[in-house]
Amino acid sequence: MRINLKELPQGKKVIHTILKKEDLNIADYEKEFVLLGDVDVEAMFIKSKSTVNIKITAKYTLRLQCSRCLTWFDREYREQESFVFKEGKEKIQKEKSLSDEDIYTYFYMTEEVDLSPLIRDMIVLSVPMKPLCKEDCKGLCPVCGANWNEETCEHMGMTTKPTTKLSKLLEFKDKLYK
Ligand SMILES: [Zn+2]
Ligand SMILES: [Zn+2]
Repeated sequence: MRINLKELPQGKKVIHTILKKEDLNIADYEKEFVLLGDVDVEAMFIKSKSTVNIKITAKYTLRLQCSRCLTWFDREYREQESFVFKEGKEKIQKEKSLSDEDIYTYFYMTEEVDLSPLIRDMIVLSVPMKPLCKEDCKGLCPVCGANWNEETCEHMGMTTKPTTKLSKLLEFKDKLYK
């Protein structure tokens, strides 16, 4: 999604576009998630002299794996992020705005900037460390591996968890995602 910031008119302009998976170069990042379908992008530009404020709203669906029951599930996202581009030579900076919201400031030397990597980062960062298929996911039985969301097993009432190979594995997985 290339935008020529110099040619952008002063004032407000909204661009609505659909980005395909290929446009985002996201394949290398897809380890803990899968991006399903296209990404619906609305970019609002507000140009004032040589500063361009960009508010990006991205809508997309991710397929995630629940960290408790290991089931894959789909979730819709609507993420919003603001960026500031300034004409100049300085390096990329990160500023804190007054509202204490993260604002990313980039300095542009070239006339054209590519917003795709920014949108890709928004998607990658929206993936939770420990995805849950639902808030109260009951997880898997550490003894027999039964999915407690779907079935019951004889181990459900146990107060102390016996240590088994599977529970060790689940503990290890928990640590990995902390
Ligand atoms: Zn789950
Ligand atoms: Zn069980």
